Amino acid sequence: MPVAKPKPVRAAPQLSGVQQRIQTARLAQAVPSLGAAYARALARWVGDPVLRLTGLPIITECYRSPERQDELYAQGRSKPGPVVTYKRGGESRHNQLPAPALDVAFLLPDGEFSWSGLLLSKFARLMKAADARVHWGGDWPRFKDRPHFEV
Ligand SMILES: [Zn+2]
Repeated sequence: MPVAKPKPVRAAPQLSGVQQRIQTARLAQAVPSLGAAYARALARWVGDPVLRLTGLPIITECYRSPERQDELYAQGRSKPGPVVTYKRGGESRHNQLPAPALDVAFLLPDGEFSWSGLLLSKFARLMKAADARVHWGGDWPRFKDRPHFEV
């Protein structure tokens, strides 16, 4: 008789050592209140038996140089691609150091990265619960910037 294969156990996604060090360095760029809110929200996320299996929150960008901001501003204007920002170099909260803004994505169990609006809205709830001063770009009335959090 054939033996039924055991169902694969879904494992929570994990960062490599290098990726973990990059996350620590990016988090250190944030102003203390935002960094603390992110750390609390992340701890609640990975402590939740359901959420931790859906993906792992990661900081994709915290501080951004004015030169990089100008490159992003050019996208969708003088360069191809969709418009991703309305701020020129020096105008974004990402251009301050320490940075009062950070952007979040998710590492999925299959190793892909995701900017899922559903996952980001769930994480936004934890960020706002961690610190009421946190504003989520997904709550903005016009240009919705769901990966974006700021204080
Ligand atoms: Zn942002």
